[in-house]
Amino acid sequence: MALKITDECINCDVCEPVCPNQAISMGIDIYVIDPMRCTECAGHFDQPQCQQVCPVECIPLDPDHLESSEQLWKKYRRLSASKEKKMP
Ligand code: SF4
Ligand code: SF4
Repeated sequence: MALKITDECINCDVCEPVCPNQAISMGIDIYVIDPMRCTECAGHFDQPQCQQVCPVECIPLDPDHLESSEQLWKKYRRLSASKEKKMP
């Protein structure tokens, strides 16, 4: 399941750099998570890093993007493969 950022976000900027998948970016008003890139940090960390650093705890799981652990790992492998392809 990907995570999502709620409108309680205070745009403190700390989550964006800790995401290993570059899934977090500034949206129109607040930061947003790209569900195509969020793996709940599977493949990188045991815990979602954005949740760990968010001072207002506004990054819950997104029930609109239900995924099994297997699907999250598949996404991780797809992202890793495309990263490798971009390397010279
Ligand atoms: S859970 Fe991990 S992969 Fe998903 S947005 Fe947060 S830091 Fe990025
Ligand atoms: S860490 Fe939390 S409050 Fe800060 S920008 Fe990210 S989602 Fe918003």
